[in-house]
Amino acid sequence: MMIGEKNQIMKRILAFLAAAVLAFSAAAAEEEELWVEEIVEDVLLDDNGREVPLETPGPEEASSPVSDDAFIPSRGSAYPAREGENGYWTLPMDITDEAAVWEMLMAPVTVVDIGKNSGEKEQTYLYREPDEDSLKVGVVTCESQGVRVIETRDDGWSLVECYSSSFHATKVEAWNLLVSGYIPTKYLKQVEPNPDMGIVVDKLTQRMYIFQEGKLLSTLLVSTGLVQWNGSKYQPYNETRSGEFLLMNKVGTLISDRLYCDMAIRFNAGDMMHEVPHVKNADGTENYSSTEYKLGTKCSHGCIRVQRYRTPEGINMSWIWKQLKSQSKVKFVIWEDWQGRQIPVPDDDTLVYYNPNKGSYYHKGTFCYMAKSITFQPFTYGELEQAPYNKLKACPYCVPPMREGDIQERNEQYAAGGDHDELLTSLQQGYYEYLQGN
Ligand SMILES: [Zn+2]
Repeated sequence: MMIGEKNQIMKRILAFLAAAVLAFSAAAAEEEELWVEEIVEDVLLDDNGREVPLETPGPEEASSPVSDDAFIPSRGSAYPAREGENGYWTLPMDITDEAAVWEMLMAPVTVVDIGKNSGEKEQTYLYREPDEDSLKVGVVTCESQGVRVIETRDDGWSLVECYSSSFHATKVEAWNLLVSGYIPTKYLKQVEPNPDMGIVVDKLTQRMYIFQEGKLLSTLLVSTGLVQWNGSKYQPYNETRSGEFLLMNKVGTLISDRLYCDMAIRFNAGDMMHEVPHVKNADGTENYSSTEYKLGTKCSHGCIRVQRYRTPEGINMSWIWKQLKSQSKVKFVIWEDWQGRQIPVPDDDTLVYYNPNKGSYYHKGTFCYMAKSITFQPFTYGELEQAPYNKLKACPYCVPPMREGDIQERNEQYAAGGDHDELLTSLQQGYYEYLQGN
């Protein structure tokens, strides 16, 4: 007999004796059973004969109001999250909270409809005062761009907030800045997004997260925009505008600067999602060598480039294209890469996979479309920096976790107090001067 078992029996005997004594002194036979039950519960002893305190269930963890420094899309707003306000603007950017992300993706979107019926390429302005003669402080795209309604006034105007959809041909050069301003209330309408799926793009991780039926279905590599010098000027409007959108027209192939961008779907005026671009070789075949290796980092002119290789779930840009109809109104949200956000490093015991027979990539699971006939073998993320695993490259199909060194490098760029894009910051100063000069 094990010592533990012996102690268990001793506990029972002690408990029973204690109960019997108390029951006897109570001299009420009909209460005996009740007493025994109570006392047995009260005097559980551990293996050392000490009394084990009864565990009392703690109170349900209170849902805390969003703090001022949480990484939410409306971070830094002059209008903090109101009690009970939820949805895209106030949800912390945490892709692991699938239930909360799904709820956000299914919540209605307030869009702008100025009634010209010219669709989602049309844009309008937010004003500094409830007055169309006042200063224009932001640009909003009609039909597809969501706004956060802060106040609906009696005078026919509403105060709203969004990331300004400023493109190159605007006087309001609020490049991807979160702005608030007034718009006539009659232009606002609520739209129910497509209930079948939703998509999140995170500018910090440079990944796209496809949600279906309440769950994260698949993760893909993307490239969002990068501010660059084009040979004659800087292009601050390359930075992909963050925000909450609805997927609109399926446009097809765009050709830009010899780059073929297949399966483009419009979501914000000139911004679209499309397959990672290719050039045509002399023999007409497709060549992705100048663009594909950059997936997972910023590099586009504002569009969102999506991987063409299939993830283990079978998802790629072709799948998205086939899945969606034009005007699908699938909610498409872009999370801002606020300075201070950090990518978590996976636990050391997280499993990753490889082919021990001369494989040169590490994978997310045993199956990968890179080599469909191979069952990959597990090792741990903690071993990834040791031989022979340290030579393996991250698979571009199944999108395994980034290497710790790469995560740390990005986290240093985004460390609190720093500036991951000083060029963009400097180019945004003109907007503040514009505000001050008016
Ligand atoms: Zn793989």
